[in-house]
Amino acid sequence: MTGESASGEIAVIGLGSSGRAVSMLLAREGRAVYASDAGPGPGVAASARALAGAGVAVDAGHHDLARIARASLVVASPGVPPDAPPLAAARAAGVPIVSEVEIALARLPGVRYIAVTGTNGKTTTTALVAHLLRALGKRAVAAGNIGMPLAEIALADPPPEWVALELSSFQLHDTPSVQPTVGVLTNLSPDHLDRYRSAEDYYADKALLFANANARSAWVLNADDPAVMAMGTSAAGRHLRFSLADQTADACLSADGQQLMLFGSPLLGRTDFPLMGDHNVANALAASLAVTVADSGHQGAVQRQRLADGLRSFRSLAHRLQVVGTYHGVQWIDDSKATNVSSTLVALRGMTRPTVLLLGGRHKGEPYTALAEPIRKTGKVVLAYGEAAPRIVHDLSGLVPVEELGSDFAAVIDRARGCAAPGDAVLLSPACSSFDMFRNYEERGATFARLAGQEPSSSP
Ligand code: ADP
Repeated sequence: MTGESASGEIAVIGLGSSGRAVSMLLAREGRAVYASDAGPGPGVAASARALAGAGVAVDAGHHDLARIARASLVVASPGVPPDAPPLAAARAAGVPIVSEVEIALARLPGVRYIAVTGTNGKTTTTALVAHLLRALGKRAVAAGNIGMPLAEIALADPPPEWVALELSSFQLHDTPSVQPTVGVLTNLSPDHLDRYRSAEDYYADKALLFANANARSAWVLNADDPAVMAMGTSAAGRHLRFSLADQTADACLSADGQQLMLFGSPLLGRTDFPLMGDHNVANALAASLAVTVADSGHQGAVQRQRLADGLRSFRSLAHRLQVVGTYHGVQWIDDSKATNVSSTLVALRGMTRPTVLLLGGRHKGEPYTALAEPIRKTGKVVLAYGEAAPRIVHDLSGLVPVEELGSDFAAVIDRARGCAAPGDAVLLSPACSSFDMFRNYEERGATFARLAGQEPSSSP
């Protein structure tokens, strides 16, 4: 229980789902808790009411910085930037800061967990790990950055046997006692440079996954990513490698690309794994390897068959290359979570059908030119829409067919329908944020799915 003293008030920063759950957890133990959030939203008000009823001192709409500076411990919600005033006040006063995950882990002593971090693929791999553990008959849940707070799991009675725990770099920063049964590092590339001073600082937080490595640790590492290997191979414990290219890896794709291989023998045919894209095969290999090595009881022939069945029955997560319907022979694919160019690149590489690509939204600063090459392979036309449309047209015209549309999403969908022939795909993988036209990427994806299923507005 690093940083936790037996007495004194604990200040919880943020009244979102994790702040609320961790406040409840601490209050249930009889700790004095002060929870605050600067935001006014309806979720904050509901949390504030529930917590006040449980005896927690609450401020919704502002933080009492002097009170936070007097706390014995501060618990930070993952969404709160490190330089936000309440955390700056705590740091200046020398109050230890930990994550909600740190508090929850200390209250789940018998639970084993597989921790997943990396720049991309965390959520998918975490969901796969939980699904595969359940396929083996274990009581397993997915928690952490995936959306279910670990503190919520700690409140449950009885707790699960296993947790698939997604950890962001921010959560790792404030979770000094992290010590997974198996740790998975999916890949590394510079990210979140709005919150980190440099890529090195970001990588340093990712490296905290290995902070408490010992001889019993097991690490699942991406052999196709030199930065991952450089970071992971010096950690104490067993090192397992997954790869799409290297057939000597513990989990890999066969040389002909037809089989997912585990420890040298076929686990599942590629076409039996329902997710699109080789990046998802990498996620499946990482998850299968992690679950297999997590316990010797997961390694028999029966368990291997159950793992294969689990991979076969896994369905893509919402808004991540999710097929939302096939209408008149055209497959409609929602990849609304692709809010940057690298995500759209990965999606395009996974496409096998001629593709009408919907690209646009709020521009985030990256040029779109890197998309030209994969679009030339399977792209039929790019429909550029929203605020970013003129930039997209500027970057891609002359390289690939591109049309500029406005910000009427129904008109964009109508145009996509007009461009697509039976056997084609319409792919929403926008490489931009959604905020010019939608509340968030979820709403954008849901609107896409709804409009895709409707007949054209101009049809008789
Ligand atoms: P995260 O939780 O790390 O954001 P997700 O599983 O939610 O990852 O996937 C988000 C996006 O990242 C996907 O839509 C896809 O474009 C990309 N992605 C997923 N897995 C990988 C991977 N293994 N390698 C590279 N990109 C990936």
